[in-house]
Amino acid sequence: MARYETIEWEIRMDNKTNLLGMTLLQLHELCAAEGFPKFAAKQLCDWLYKKRVESIDAMTNLSLTQRARLNEVACIGRETPVRCQVSKDGTKKYLFPVRRAESGERSCIEAVYIPETKSSDLARATLCVSCQVGCKMGCHFCVTGQQGFHGNLSAGDILNQLFSIPEFESLTNVVFMGMGEPMDNLDAVLAACSVLTSDWGLGWSPKRITVSTVGILPGMKRFLDESQCHLAVSLHNPVPQERQAMMPVQKVYPLAEVLALLRQYDWGGQRRLSFEYTMFRGENDDLAHAAKLAEALKGLECRVNLIRFHESDEAPYKTSMPSTIAAFQSYLNRHGITCTLRASRGQDIDAACGLLAGQKE
Ligand code: SF4
Repeated sequence: MARYETIEWEIRMDNKTNLLGMTLLQLHELCAAEGFPKFAAKQLCDWLYKKRVESIDAMTNLSLTQRARLNEVACIGRETPVRCQVSKDGTKKYLFPVRRAESGERSCIEAVYIPETKSSDLARATLCVSCQVGCKMGCHFCVTGQQGFHGNLSAGDILNQLFSIPEFESLTNVVFMGMGEPMDNLDAVLAACSVLTSDWGLGWSPKRITVSTVGILPGMKRFLDESQCHLAVSLHNPVPQERQAMMPVQKVYPLAEVLALLRQYDWGGQRRLSFEYTMFRGENDDLAHAAKLAEALKGLECRVNLIRFHESDEAPYKTSMPSTIAAFQSYLNRHGITCTLRASRGQDIDAACGLLAGQKE
């Protein structure tokens, strides 16, 4: 049994259990505890994940007594976003309130909806979700990292970011690249992925989901063993001392060990491995770095996504010149590493990579 099946349900301040985010096994436990028949767990899954109801009263194949009891002990756990900013390129940034169960402290987290059109039709729609309030990793170039850590999101909080936006039906992909480090809140991330990909949940292919990490080794290993979703590793610099200067995690989990672990897995099949590489002017963007990167990734089935750095007052880095980025990309492609440049989206609303800040209430 996967470990995430046994996490405790998040208890709200009103002592009600959030149903959204619970796995089939957890719903079985809930139904057994309440004396409901066994099949009621599957009925609950259908209402929560297939029909996506917003109230327990709408679960009309449960008896009135069962619904009344459920209303006493549980709630759906949906929260609508409190704000939506729309970029001129169509990207939308949603702000969601979340509450920490232990302290009752309220904060806000952000999710970013990124539509991509082809011949004026919607070809792909990605939601970038957050998994923590703030982050412990402290990457020097990231606004979230400069805020410190304020708490983990539950699986329900993560799924609510999809379920409570008007564009839910159009979503084709989800990336865990918003606020927080997914491997540092892995129980909740795996539970959310389980809801997204299970038959009793949304039934999505794992190929529609990408989870990112700075390279937390134990979490990465568990994620790779327990999930089939794609993995994206934030690399950003192949030189150990330089990487450590921008990403403190390098000291605890060196890139060489991260790559050694990744080489133990098969990347030739359905699952994709990518490396995120943000281009910082004069720091990591010359051909010497490209050569070191190509050497480090040699023989590994993967791709590199280059990201233009978005300057902010909080980070002491500058954006690379377009010609430098093009030369770096070309070098990698010529040396056998598939390398793409990720389009910058939502920069005018601070929704681009590394700019998510959330808000404290
Ligand atoms: Fe955390 Fe990711 Fe920002 Fe690093 S880049 S501080 S892991 S949110």
